[in-house]
Amino acid sequence: MSVFADVQAVLCDMDGVLVHGSQIIPGAPEFLARLRASGRRFLVLTNNSIYTTRDLQARLARTGLELAPEEIYTSALATAQFLDTQRPNGTAFVIGETGLTTALYEVGYTQTEHEPDYVVIGETMSYSFERITQAVRLVAAGARLIGTNPDVSGPSERGLVPACGAVVALIQAATGAQAYFVGKPNPVMMRTALRTIDAHAVEAMMIGDRMDTDIIGGTEAGMRTALVLSGVMNRGDAERYPYRPSAIIDSVADLFN
Ligand SMILES: [Mg+2]
Repeated sequence: MSVFADVQAVLCDMDGVLVHGSQIIPGAPEFLARLRASGRRFLVLTNNSIYTTRDLQARLARTGLELAPEEIYTSALATAQFLDTQRPNGTAFVIGETGLTTALYEVGYTQTEHEPDYVVIGETMSYSFERITQAVRLVAAGARLIGTNPDVSGPSERGLVPACGAVVALIQAATGAQAYFVGKPNPVMMRTALRTIDAHAVEAMMIGDRMDTDIIGGTEAGMRTALVLSGVMNRGDAERYPYRPSAIIDSVADLFN
């Protein structure tokens, strides 16, 4: 039986799978149309915690990809859901953009600079050294350190930029504290995403372009996985990992036809 048989729910990485920066990947809109027409539940996942799902909807629409905000799931939402289950109605000192602050607000978290339960670090466009210093002091005083995603760098129009994982590394080095990252490859992100669409791992497939985030996370969450070659990895790269996807496909254009 095909590994794609009875896939009732899909978690689909965004960058390298549906879009490449501001370029749509050929076949992606038709793939989403097939998912909707077949009644499969799905969420499009991103480790980017800068934007709200409505911001992302607007940005994707400009590339030509139509997604509803409810069809998008970010590491900011996963982090908020995780903290809500760990310590409901808690307090946090947050370094991040509206994607993160809105998500925390919506689960009932309060932002404070005074003895917060957590210091939560997400991606921002401009890391302020003053805010980082504040974060260091709060963690040294006992606040628990959380990162939305462990990525240490990311692309931008002008070149490489340091990302959440690098800033968290700085705070870890300064305090000796160990952070917990909720975003991919942590399978917690896949599990909270599945819960959001009321799906179970056995009926679900994770589709992504990276072995070390999408495929390992999906595998550890107990899902079937498909590696697409439309992003950063090729077949040779995939062979070098000690775990393998359930399937390797050129792109989502080949899926569920
Ligand atoms: Mg990707």
